[in-house]
Amino acid sequence: MASITGSSTTGTDSASKRKPKDKKRGKEKPAEDVSTSPAPLTDGRAIRKRRTRPGNAARNPRDEPAAKTPSPVIDFDGLSRPSSGTRSRIDEGPEQAEKRLEMMCGAVRTLLECVGEDPDREGLLGTPSRYAKALLFLTKGYQDHVKDVVNNALFNEGHNEMVIVKDIDIYSLCEHHLVPFTGKMHIGYIPSNTVIGLSKLPRIAEMFSRRLQIQERLTKEVAHAIMEIFNPQGVAVVMESCHLCMVIRGVQKTGTTTITSCVLGCFERQSKTRNEFLSFVGVNRT
Ligand SMILES: [Zn+2]
Repeated sequence: MASITGSSTTGTDSASKRKPKDKKRGKEKPAEDVSTSPAPLTDGRAIRKRRTRPGNAARNPRDEPAAKTPSPVIDFDGLSRPSSGTRSRIDEGPEQAEKRLEMMCGAVRTLLECVGEDPDREGLLGTPSRYAKALLFLTKGYQDHVKDVVNNALFNEGHNEMVIVKDIDIYSLCEHHLVPFTGKMHIGYIPSNTVIGLSKLPRIAEMFSRRLQIQERLTKEVAHAIMEIFNPQGVAVVMESCHLCMVIRGVQKTGTTTITSCVLGCFERQSKTRNEFLSFVGVNRT
């Protein structure tokens, strides 16, 4: 099983396979072929064009991801990496909410038409509205603030021993395919005298999982949020999950589990503490 140091990932997500390797291919093709060929993906075409420019030729995108990794730290208003539309979604009034729903219904109706269905047949009449509402629910975490979630449930208990909440059910949406990934999250921390209300840990996990996610970032965001909220000696988060985008499409591998972890503070520094956590949550099964 995975040995856990810092942030590690076992299993795969399709993201890693999508690194374009067509730098050479772009060079082989004449420029006009690139611009006139009926390539199915305009994105891919744009990338190829860009790579052929001499200014970018020497750049290897694999050298750069560290600098581009978004900060997992909570923003000043507690929204944590809000997307561009997050604020408008939080602040909208009933009229705007209705307009949003209307737009979403139109989009779902288009999708139904595109898959070859008749959106006006009886069984599908209410589907656009139902799906739009479901999607808003599945992404309701965009409207949550860490501060509201924690709601001052911090207690100065003088407790300095490990606290673990395990087997937290997670239902999230893969941001690459918009299909669910589900699994269990285990959260542990060692307080610096202050403890957090136990129910808050699953709530924090819920807040971050009800957004468009990848499992790696979800794990990291939960760990960093807990660290930032009350600065314990350390935090460890492990998540095991099944990605429907791997099961029902793509490689179609059922029974695969993706494990991610993020350990901070004393869990990162001390292997004994880390192993104690892992044996408690049952991940260290070797
Ligand atoms: Zn996916």
